[in-house]
Amino acid sequence: MRVLTLEDLRKELPGDVRLLVVGDPVEHSLSPAIHNAALEYLSLPHRYGRLRIAAEDLATGFELMRNRELIGWNVTLPHKLAAKVLVDFLNPLAERVGAVNTVVAKSGRLFGYNTDCEGLVAAIAESFGQEVTSFRVALLGAGGGAGQTAARYLCELGVPRIVLINRTMSKAEQLAERLRDTLPQSPDQPAKSTEIEVAAWDAFPVVCPTVDLIINASSLGLNNDAVDPGFDAIGPRHLFFDMVYGPQETPLVHFARSKGARAADGLLMLLFQGVLAFEIWFGKPAPVEVMRRALFAAAGRKG
Ligand code: NAP
Repeated sequence: MRVLTLEDLRKELPGDVRLLVVGDPVEHSLSPAIHNAALEYLSLPHRYGRLRIAAEDLATGFELMRNRELIGWNVTLPHKLAAKVLVDFLNPLAERVGAVNTVVAKSGRLFGYNTDCEGLVAAIAESFGQEVTSFRVALLGAGGGAGQTAARYLCELGVPRIVLINRTMSKAEQLAERLRDTLPQSPDQPAKSTEIEVAAWDAFPVVCPTVDLIINASSLGLNNDAVDPGFDAIGPRHLFFDMVYGPQETPLVHFARSKGARAADGLLMLLFQGVLAFEIWFGKPAPVEVMRRALFAAAGRKG
């Protein structure tokens, strides 16, 4: 199916398209593979398409989509933060983490959700066979959108310790300050006590021995960047979760495994955020294994 644009929203969407992934770029999104497999399996008469919208057109796009016969849409890079002010209602988690990746459209009203956080936690549990709350965490890329969202959610869940690391350290410092200021006021899920620390990117080798799980939420490795020499500090007792994913082992996963660590990339996170979005849209269990097979096939990977 071709990538749709704002012009398509002004006219008619192709008849059966009732769900979309909205981003810029969206050409390579694997979400259509996950959701179209589920729709087909459940004999639902809808299709999930791609819509490319530039940041400056996002508000217009949301207004046009509001009045189309859409069930909802996913929001991806770079619009997750902007989307939170374009919906009429935010569910409590989306409000607290400050980002929307799933929208439900109902009777002209837009409801914003975030399923990335729970997707991350489900992916970590499946990858390593243990709940994330048992780990002391180093979060690389804590200043980016995905990192900030993950940091807040992990603190809400009560991981014992989190070290926020970002190339631009001031962003991690600001995040730590916001978390310390706002976490206890979390309305329906009072934060358990997480020890929050900030470290410079160069200090990773010093942090490494003090954590169990390293999460990469930075885009390092997305463009086959060289692995930082500081990563040598990763060892066999570490778990390494890379939010980045691709057809092959990501450079960071490859490196972590070469140091003896157990490592997983972000494909399962993508799966589980999609499963949760599907269940929000349709109010029934998603066919997880069908979606998993479709995703792994589309990503060119073995299941
Ligand atoms: P973003 O808001 O643009 O943030 C990018 C982050 O990466 C920032 O922390 C940035 O640091 C850091 N960074 C970029 N290049 C770097 C480098 N060469 N060395 C060290 N740090 C570097 O992006 P995002 O939305 O947070 O996404 C981050 C990554 O997570 C992307 O690869 C995305 O695909 C992935 N992700 C995956 C899933 C999934 O379902 N698996 C979901 C969400 C995101 P500065 O602040 O210093 O610029």
